[in-house]
Amino acid sequence: MRVWIAHQLAAVIAAIVVTAAGCDMAGAPAHNTAGMAEAETVSTRSSDTPEKTMSPKYSKSGYDVTSLPHDAVAKLAAKLGPEAYRITQKAGTEPAFCGNLLDNHKDGVYVCAVCGLPLFSSQHKFNSGTGWPSFYQPFDPDHIVRKTDTGYGMVRTEILCARCGSHLGHVFDDGPKPTGERYCLNSVSLKFHEKGAQLPPESQPVNVGGGGAQPASAAVAYFAGGCFWGVEHYFHRGPGVIDAVSGYMQGHVDHPTYRQVCSDTTGHAETVKVVYDPTKITYRRLLEAFFTMHDPTQLNRQGPDSGEQYRSGIWYVDEAQKREAEAYIKELATSGRYGNRRIETQVEPAKTFWPAEEYHQEYIAKNGAACHVKDPW
Ligand code: FE
Repeated sequence: MRVWIAHQLAAVIAAIVVTAAGCDMAGAPAHNTAGMAEAETVSTRSSDTPEKTMSPKYSKSGYDVTSLPHDAVAKLAAKLGPEAYRITQKAGTEPAFCGNLLDNHKDGVYVCAVCGLPLFSSQHKFNSGTGWPSFYQPFDPDHIVRKTDTGYGMVRTEILCARCGSHLGHVFDDGPKPTGERYCLNSVSLKFHEKGAQLPPESQPVNVGGGGAQPASAAVAYFAGGCFWGVEHYFHRGPGVIDAVSGYMQGHVDHPTYRQVCSDTTGHAETVKVVYDPTKITYRRLLEAFFTMHDPTQLNRQGPDSGEQYRSGIWYVDEAQKREAEAYIKELATSGRYGNRRIETQVEPAKTFWPAEEYHQEYIAKNGAACHVKDPW
């Protein structure tokens, strides 16, 4: 609450300053007193920004978030104008109500102005009334680094780009539902790409199967078998499985939250994305594991969970997966394994995979909670 009041005060003062002086104050410090929530800080990206690039790191949504070395960031930053350089590299703040993205209401993605990493989506933008572009959640939590900022006698949380360490703004806990967070941004820290526009390579996810994030032979499969916690847990343990990620698929809302999915109105199914090395494990073996883990004869439910989001489904990425999944289901149906019970598993082409919130990832490993699924290995 203290922070909220401080920031509203900051907004009011900033509005007065802007009203009096207009927006041509770029370059001048936006705020000059303590108590301003988005006040300029004295810190710069430095010692605690990860420097080494020992091994590549990928975000849950599939982007390369390996920390760029200082010299690479310096090269990128050298292309910035003086104001953007001051704000992104020296933790500056632009004047309130002056940023060019404050009133941008177009659909699209906001990427880092320095390295191009997608940071925010238009879907999560809201009018906070503070004078700075505001979002209630990031594009992917893995794309943002939080850092305690004690400048100006306050304790705030600075946000930086996870890949290049550039200063973005701050995050506060007075945002709207569903997160209750308010990510307060400088427009110059961001670059906007309208929906449908061709994104530069640095703003695109790595190409699974085409090299980059995974071994050249990596493949992807998607399985929905009720609550994703246990399904993800056991797929993680599969020999030849590179990664398993909990998420949502087959719905009609972009960037769905868990709460939205649970409302049973978005059409999504809790789904596990399995990245695997087909030279070490076959798609057929994944299918076998999937059908061992869950009960495919249950319609829109699994264990204690009921609802369409808990439906059984295989979302195929190509015709070969489709053929193999359908053939295996046919084989199971005639095997007598399920008696007279019908296999309810849906087989559909994969739509967009939306990674679930961070707290759902590796939930069983972190919390040790029991689950309805069986160990298939
Ligand atoms: Fe960046």
